[in-house]
Amino acid sequence: MPSSPRAFTLDRALDSLASYAFMIPVSRPTITETDIDAVVTTLRAGYVSGDAPIVAEFENEFAAVVGRKHGIAVSNGSVALDLALHALDLKVGDEVIVPSFTIASCLFAIMRTGATPVFADVDPVTWNMSIDTVNPVISTRTRAILLVHIYGLPVDVDPIREVCSAKNIAIVEDAAEAHTVEYKNRPCGSFGLMSTFSFYANKAITSGEGGMIVTDDDAIAQSLRQLKNLSFLPPPQPRFVHETIGWNARMSSVQAALGKSQLTRMHSVTLEKRRIGLLYDKLLSDDERIVMQPTETAYSKNKYWVVGLLFGNEINARDVARRLRERGIDSRPFFYPLHKQPLLAKFNLDQQPSLPVSELLGHSGLYLPSFVGITDAEIEFCANGTRTVLDEVKVQ
Ligand SMILES: *Cc1c(COP(=O)(O)O)cnc(C)c1O
Repeated sequence: MPSSPRAFTLDRALDSLASYAFMIPVSRPTITETDIDAVVTTLRAGYVSGDAPIVAEFENEFAAVVGRKHGIAVSNGSVALDLALHALDLKVGDEVIVPSFTIASCLFAIMRTGATPVFADVDPVTWNMSIDTVNPVISTRTRAILLVHIYGLPVDVDPIREVCSAKNIAIVEDAAEAHTVEYKNRPCGSFGLMSTFSFYANKAITSGEGGMIVTDDDAIAQSLRQLKNLSFLPPPQPRFVHETIGWNARMSSVQAALGKSQLTRMHSVTLEKRRIGLLYDKLLSDDERIVMQPTETAYSKNKYWVVGLLFGNEINARDVARRLRERGIDSRPFFYPLHKQPLLAKFNLDQQPSLPVSELLGHSGLYLPSFVGITDAEIEFCANGTRTVLDEVKVQ
């Protein structure tokens, strides 16, 4: 975490340097001529807004891929979380468990419902929440668990599902980093009451901005459709009469055209991401200064949404990232732990017990360039650069 406003500005300035040609970017979306044709075709047909047929087509196709009955396309993955949590009808005093090691969107979505976020640490090997980190923070007020798969390796879902069904706790699955990832041969996005996805530019498929909620529950699906569309009541109810707060979270037909076109490549993209991850693993995992997520577990194969490296506590990942940039290698630090976010003080929630694994990841983890089109030579350059930078940091 940058320590001062000045450091923050510098960080941002260095980030933008990464867009120069000499820098190997950390991620890059692939947009094909077919994608472009799909978008242009939709525009030529006169469709732009969210009620075009192509939005429903994308919803149905995506839901089918993850084995769900309903897909509800929305404007991004963060608002997908907002709507999913809102649909649970949580009350002040209810608790929602969330891993500390995830994107802030998860925290924001819980806070907006009025429920209290309760932070679970993550497993030091998988970097995911687990039954062992969740169990100690379950209370009689726990109403939901936000089950977030991290970096392309899934949570060990079954033990958490068992506890949740015994205690009547809802699961909302955040599969934004888990397109095509399988848990025991079932797709991520098929677990829990609802699951959410993101189609942001750095995700496995992109619709520009964009997201999706999937569910098998008819009533929830209908309420999500209303929530995303200003809570208009379905016909024959009168228009412009609203019984609840709504969002405009509609996905446009332009976004859906791109998403639907990209969906045809989703499996080939994530297979390539896995190949890239395995090559990095071969090049770096034997270095005793570096810890990586496992290439596979008993229940899954890592699809490497990103290729993460964790160093020892004595190494600040931001320091490593700065030195990598000087070598033309872009990288990103890991998520800063949610239980340490300054915003919690405004809600009197800043007195949190320490969660050592999330804190270590937030301080000493970063991820390296990986995208469809990166060459093996570039991967080797990035891996060698990382080793050299670690030598420098040690000597210092
Ligand atoms: C990217 C991401 C999101 C948010 O998606 P946006 O489309 O960027 O709003 C939510 N959860 C996780 C785990 C993510 O990685």
